[in-house]
Amino acid sequence: MLAERATILTPSLTLSIDSKAKAMKAEGIDVCGFGAGEPDFDTPEHIKAAAQAAIETGFTKYTPSSGIPELRQAISDKFKADNGLDYKSSQIVVSNGAKHSCYNAILATCQPGDEVIIPAPYWLSYPEMVRLAGADPVFIQTKEENNWKMTAEEFEEAMTPRTKMVILNSPGNPTGSVYTAEELSAIVEVAAGEDILILSDEIYEKLVYDGVKHVSVASLSQEAYNLTITINGFSKAYAMTGWRLGYLGAPESIAKAIDAIQSHSTSNPCSFAQKGALAALKGDQSAVEDMRAEFDLRRNYMVQRLATIDRVSVVAPQGAFYVLVNISQLGLSSTNFAERLLSKHHVAVVPGVAFGNDGTVRFSYATSLDVIKKGLDRFEEFCRTL
Ligand code: PMP
Repeated sequence: MLAERATILTPSLTLSIDSKAKAMKAEGIDVCGFGAGEPDFDTPEHIKAAAQAAIETGFTKYTPSSGIPELRQAISDKFKADNGLDYKSSQIVVSNGAKHSCYNAILATCQPGDEVIIPAPYWLSYPEMVRLAGADPVFIQTKEENNWKMTAEEFEEAMTPRTKMVILNSPGNPTGSVYTAEELSAIVEVAAGEDILILSDEIYEKLVYDGVKHVSVASLSQEAYNLTITINGFSKAYAMTGWRLGYLGAPESIAKAIDAIQSHSTSNPCSFAQKGALAALKGDQSAVEDMRAEFDLRRNYMVQRLATIDRVSVVAPQGAFYVLVNISQLGLSSTNFAERLLSKHHVAVVPGVAFGNDGTVRFSYATSLDVIKKGLDRFEEFCRTL
């Protein structure tokens, strides 16, 4: 009854742990949840007010499929100011979340016979998007000693004549790794040699720590610009996950193709949400820094605590809001580890197998410091029993 493309998808492992954690909470059990993939802050008031005003004034109809002109212009200005990127409005497509932007970009460029290189641990939707496009994901296992980053040499080794695209995600989910300009340049050089497209998912751009600077791949050279699709969005920087708004900047021909795909699949992103997004870009940015500073406090606490626990290791994340913990010395698969940690000690984490690395589990610190402290006490106790 089902099409093959629907049957090849891996059911989401994160969801099964998450639903178990929710069921336990509903029973009144005090669960420390580290599974969150979204900021635990509310959307800033001025953004909500702009969307409310849009509804009040009847801005509730279809918009141009790639988004309203003033939002695309504001995104163009943002790319210039923050990222040193020159994308005209016509090169920008606003979609229903950065996830949708990634999917549109892959659909527009990849087809059966193509390979897409994905460094692991990866954000779990990339391989499934590639498969839905009929192409084949090719994984590179990055090393903890390289801070979970793919090197240009590893990239070159994984390339074949079928390689169409490489996916980069800096700052990364689930690793928190941030690539330097030098590392990116070396990767671009390899990609440019064979005209390989680069999908650069920069959704965590605003969440960087330790004075680290986020670098947009497309800003590195004209070659890089010509090969790169730059993805970004509002979910993480402005705590707007439920609004479903993301965007991309790409060479004109790719943006046009994506506009056509979107016009026939979802028409346009939500009209009044776009007005909220416009307020997010144009308004006061202090909420972004306030959230970043709070994440940074939690990150420091987590990294310090985890460093004192025997037989686990962490690379201090420089971005996003996750810590990837290496549990491979404890002798359990990541799923078994996460299930036992949840059922015995009431701590929910995401097993690394979901991200293509079974020796790790992911903690999100998009939760209060109190929960983090309590959860790490329990985690330490659990590790001691293994
Ligand atoms: N890319 C990465 C790496 C993510 O972690 C997420 C959210 N989990 C997204 C994209 C999707 O974000 P959005 O809510 O804008 O679709």
